[in-house]
Amino acid sequence: MDTLVSLSKRRGFVFQSSEIYGGAGSVWDYGPLGVELKSNIKRVWWRDFVQRRPDMVGIDASILMHPTVWKASGHLDHFTDPMVDCRECKLRFRADHVDALPWTHYCPATKGNKFTIPAGEPCSHCGARRTLCPDCGKGELTAPRQFNLMFKTFMGPVEEDASIAYLRPETAQAMFVNFENVLQSMRLKLPFGIAQAGRSFRNEITPGNFIFRTREFEQMEIEYFVNPNDRVDGRPADEHWHDRWIEDCLAWFRRYGLAEDSLRLREHGKDELSHYSKRTVDIDYRFPIGWSELMGIANRTDFDLKQHAKWSGKSLTYFDEERKEHVVPYVVEPAAGLDRALLAFMADAYREEEVRGEKRVVLRFHPELAPVKVAVLPLLKKRDDIVRTARAIRDELARQWRVVYDDTAAIGRLYRRQDEVGTPYCVTVDVQTVGDTDKGESADGKVTIRDRDSMEQIRVPADRLGAVFGDLLGGQNWAEAAARVGRG
Ligand code: ATP
Repeated sequence: MDTLVSLSKRRGFVFQSSEIYGGAGSVWDYGPLGVELKSNIKRVWWRDFVQRRPDMVGIDASILMHPTVWKASGHLDHFTDPMVDCRECKLRFRADHVDALPWTHYCPATKGNKFTIPAGEPCSHCGARRTLCPDCGKGELTAPRQFNLMFKTFMGPVEEDASIAYLRPETAQAMFVNFENVLQSMRLKLPFGIAQAGRSFRNEITPGNFIFRTREFEQMEIEYFVNPNDRVDGRPADEHWHDRWIEDCLAWFRRYGLAEDSLRLREHGKDELSHYSKRTVDIDYRFPIGWSELMGIANRTDFDLKQHAKWSGKSLTYFDEERKEHVVPYVVEPAAGLDRALLAFMADAYREEEVRGEKRVVLRFHPELAPVKVAVLPLLKKRDDIVRTARAIRDELARQWRVVYDDTAAIGRLYRRQDEVGTPYCVTVDVQTVGDTDKGESADGKVTIRDRDSMEQIRVPADRLGAVFGDLLGGQNWAEAAARVGRG
């Protein structure tokens, strides 16, 4: 994780928020490459799950909503974590996380010497187990108290109870609240889904692990409404679609690069199911901090629509033409975290390799996710015609893709820099491309494309670059593209 944090800062992926003031607690800023990577993940997710599917539509709702939304959804009453405070140092911990922390111990068997003991283990000198604050090792912990994770603010000029509003802790509720609007305006038939990607806020007690758990983050959520009276392949429709979404989401993460053996499904036990859920399955990823939740896929039944119907007094039903009856749809919710997805893609892409006795750091991003698609590099920056040609190629390719020009180092160094940020292809312009009149050598108009992963190179007429990158960035693999170029 430390390697990723330092690479992120050094190469402009992620910075600590307000760093010059000492940083703000568990919020992060995406830098020039991070913002490209993040928006690529979001765009590809939207394209695959919304644009390409006939049964999906999207919305983009406000972060601030009517406060009753959170009463109806259960967040005001249930969106809490148990927390304990240290009476000495005042640090606050999630009660269910304390035993997972290494703990500080002043050991009586060694004249009160201070030790840091691994999580869950007893002191090897005196055999004691942790009872006090794991951090300072001195203070007693309070009994657990419930702490609501929603950020509170005020709407309007007066700070009074009547004007309390909350920053949304999930995007999902906007899909339920807008169910009727979307259903009517788009004339939809069940099953259909509403998607949204946007910011959510949670005042997490123990945030951390870089962008894994933060107080402000982005979610990509889908609410997929099904008719609970329908059956598919002999099973209730909600159960069928729940399994379909689990498979589709898992396949999506694999398609964009996450290793098969770093992904697993985790079924929630009955005791940990949320108050609304009939069944929840997490997709876990093997993060640098260990196996943790990447996304959750819950069968929320008709809980939310019924709750909002009750609290708003509006009917939130669907008319089943076949059975001539109004039904409250069930909903399957695939909910992913964008920042967590970015961390997973980055961790999975990171490789340290040895090339001709030297270390090469490379981010093997899927080309669709890579922040920069192509870097155009002049082999000799003293030659005006080479620089001019390289810049013109960059400008032409940049009409379609994020393409950079760089001439600030020797070519080997420039390649390494692009490898480190995951740029899948480099184009070099050399003397042969533009010719050398002094030596009587004519221009061949060809440039070299270098593939990040194999480091192989092919020579291509410069005026065919658009078509070649159209193929390569559109999913054709390097070997096929190279063979095609070879065939002319
Ligand atoms: P966790 O158990 O890790 O707190 P959760 O089960 O509460 O997560 P959900 O409410 O299911 O999370 O939210 C869906 C997704 O949103 C999560 O799988 C995760 O990817 C992302 N997410 C939730 N909380 C955070 C956070 N504090 N920081 C970053 N991403 C988050």
